[in-house]
Amino acid sequence: MRFEHESLTQRVCFASGEARALVRAEAERLGASRVMVIAAAAEDELAQAVSADLPVVLRWNEVLMHVPVEVAGRARAAAAVHRADLLLSVGGGSTTGLAKAITLTRGLPIVAVPTTYAGSEATSVWGLTEQAHKTTGVDARVLPRSVVYDATLTVSLPVPMSVASGLNALAHCVDAMWGPRVDPIDQALAGEGIRALAAGLPAIVADPAGLAGRERALYGTYLSAVALSSAGSGLHHKICHVLGGMYDLPHAQTHAVVLPHVLAFNAPAAPEAEQRIAAAFGAGSAIEGLEQLRRDVDAPKALRAYGLKETDVDDAVQAVLDVVPDGNPRPVTAGDVQRLLRAAWRGADPWPTSNE
Ligand code: NAD
Repeated sequence: MRFEHESLTQRVCFASGEARALVRAEAERLGASRVMVIAAAAEDELAQAVSADLPVVLRWNEVLMHVPVEVAGRARAAAAVHRADLLLSVGGGSTTGLAKAITLTRGLPIVAVPTTYAGSEATSVWGLTEQAHKTTGVDARVLPRSVVYDATLTVSLPVPMSVASGLNALAHCVDAMWGPRVDPIDQALAGEGIRALAAGLPAIVADPAGLAGRERALYGTYLSAVALSSAGSGLHHKICHVLGGMYDLPHAQTHAVVLPHVLAFNAPAAPEAEQRIAAAFGAGSAIEGLEQLRRDVDAPKALRAYGLKETDVDDAVQAVLDVVPDGNPRPVTAGDVQRLLRAAWRGADPWPTSNE
């Protein structure tokens, strides 16, 4: 065994029902006296409650998925005018993403309070979208200094969104298994992430207001994000990134639909990853485990349900081919991408294909 692994430095506070006190403690620890709170209008109430003890100078509600550059520009200017010295993000990946975009140019510390299972809070990856093209990058400065996980804040996330978002986290785990920089620590984190999410998501569906499933899902989310951040994006994330940027598709649902098709494609050529994923699911094969979970939670099935047109699929093929990661377990041709995307568009069953 020979590898190099870099751990990211971040405080992680996990306690259901304690976000307000934990956020206050983290803000004090960072010496904050002028806090900019970032939360979409829909999460404003949650954010008000969480930030009640803070010296807030600005509440920012303009949050859009995939962080359009115009929104980032306005938020950066507002942070400067109000002389914010700490960003508190309360929301899903879109909200965390906006905080990261501000920090990318202004260098402010972030305390992130996630309310979905997207996992952006535990990565140093930022994303910005300009004219239907999403650019992502890695920068240690954008990693939130502290994350506060409070499962009570996710209880309001509707079950279908919880399922899609949880499968987004699961996709981080699966794709990390063959990411370009994957190491055994990433694989251990990803395996435990799959176990936590595979138990947590059905528990959320069975009892959406209960905390047991939501805590497991948040725990799995954190592991999934740390694993992916270290391993780097594999084929699955590259495909979803292209589709999200070109067609403004909903992020979590896109991941939920595409994942089984990428797993079925890569698994025959990645036997060790396949066995680890199968073991984490406690299933005979990785794809059987994923498909059983998807049935149990009534997962999103087809990209056409989210407004993608059949002709869009063919337009995306070259864009995907351009970003296929080096070292994907098997070579990827235009025909492979087209078949995979068409199957995801239709909502066909994923079929393992050999790598002959
Ligand atoms: P999102 O943040 O857009 O949230 C989805 C919807 O759920 C929104 O309508 C939001 O208002 C609502 N919502 C959020 N929390 C809620 C709650 N507790 N109760 C009720 N409604 C709630 O979507 P997302 O899937 O969390 O994040 C997607 C974005 O995050 C994408 O732009 C994606 O690229 C980015 N992302 C980045 C990383 C990274 O490492 N940089 C990782 C994952 C996702």
